[in-house]
Amino acid sequence: MGYDVAIVGAGPAGSTAAIFLSKKGFKVALIDKSNFPRDKPCGGGLPAHVLKKFGDIIPNNLIESHSYGGTTFSPSQKYQIKHITDDPFTSMVLREKFDYGLVKEAIKNGAEFKPGKKVIDIEILKEKGRLIFEDKTSIESNIIIGADGVWSTIAKKTGLSNKNSKIGFSVVEEYELDEVTMEKYFGKKRLGYIHSKFQNLAGYGWVFPKKIHLNIGVGEIIYKRRGKESANLKEIYKSYITLLKKQKLIPESIKIKKLKGGALPVYPLKKTYSNRVILIGDAGGFINPTSGEGIYYAMASAKIAAETIEKSLKIGDNSERFLSNFQKKWKKEFGTELKIFYFISKRQQKWKNREKNLMLIFKDEKLKNLLMETMAGNLDLNKCKWKILKRYIYASIKNKLSKS
Ligand SMILES: Cc1cc2nc3c(=O)[nH]c(=O)nc-3n(C[C@H](O)[C@H](O)[C@H](O)COP(=O)(O)OP(=O)(O)OC[C@H]3O[C@@H](n4cnc5c(N)ncnc54)[C@H](O)[C@@H]3O)c2cc1C
Repeated sequence: MGYDVAIVGAGPAGSTAAIFLSKKGFKVALIDKSNFPRDKPCGGGLPAHVLKKFGDIIPNNLIESHSYGGTTFSPSQKYQIKHITDDPFTSMVLREKFDYGLVKEAIKNGAEFKPGKKVIDIEILKEKGRLIFEDKTSIESNIIIGADGVWSTIAKKTGLSNKNSKIGFSVVEEYELDEVTMEKYFGKKRLGYIHSKFQNLAGYGWVFPKKIHLNIGVGEIIYKRRGKESANLKEIYKSYITLLKKQKLIPESIKIKKLKGGALPVYPLKKTYSNRVILIGDAGGFINPTSGEGIYYAMASAKIAAETIEKSLKIGDNSERFLSNFQKKWKKEFGTELKIFYFISKRQQKWKNREKNLMLIFKDEKLKNLLMETMAGNLDLNKCKWKILKRYIYASIKNKLSKS
């Protein structure tokens, strides 16, 4: 037997699993098709609960800066809602540096890092699991973790992926500026902007200021295909930059150079385990579809996977039946909140008068704070009774509409 655990994908999910498992003394291979450091199209915003729960494995120097909130614009830009906090609302990272930093932590704890190795197939045998690489080499392990992102090869090859999964698409570019300019436009509190439903997007445009970088993107999740009118994100991005300059929210010097596209899952896969296999992070479909935020869920699912695998290796049971404990645990820890975010995200798109509805919610101080606290991960939605909450959200929107 080669390894106790082979992890495919060295993004935040894979590295976190590698850190926890290596710390426990297991023999871990952390594999990625890319050579590191590698970049990943992303906003790089970590909601407050990431540092609260994983601060001990994230070295301080991987956090560029903190943002203390910002302004959300309504679809017509007629209304603005400011949300400014005393404590950091979001911590900002540069994915190239952050992901490599976590890989180095995994190596420091004993994991063997294998960059530039693309997995093309997986074999699950009675005694072991085997990963086959594009260069025709292979490795064997007791358990395999699929942390290989939204287009996961491991999910496909094990029959766990869902062909009808909805996918979100975004385009993003990160611009390097200087600290004086950053402070002039975004202040010490690095206040950002969200333009909801910009140009009828089923999503939003964002401006995330970091220490000396400015991350600007647009993205959407389409629940119902709009046929030919499906958004041309590159064109929308150009208009977004024009608007931001017109509103004097960003410097004139910003020029689009290296726009990158990226995809996001929308909802967890029905089954995130099979014999000798567990799927974590984007590969498992763990993301908040209202915001597109997935780093927290990548790390949280990795920790749960590591705990389940530790037990499985100790008792020598790597059957599908035993690994189903992984799914039970993530459902308990964050399953309900993902259901709620999915519900909200899908509902919003059906609203006929999105402008009015969004503003009704945002103008309600209590509901606004509830949403913002939820986004920051300060509220444990999993303790809510989902059916009661759903009824509450429906009733409050209905009630507000009838009064408006
Ligand atoms: C434009 C955009 C903006 C986003 N903004 C935010 C944000 O601000 N905050 C936030 O929390 N989330 C954000 N997300 C989501 C976030 O990027 C993901 O949820 C997160 O990266 C998931 O981590 P992961 O480790 O599961 O997957 P990934 O980070 O995608 O890592 C997967 C790794 O697997 C490797 N891999 C893939 N296939 C193979 C293979 N066959 N063999 C070997 N290796 C393989 C890849 O090279 C990659 O390194 C954004 C996503 C996009 C697209």
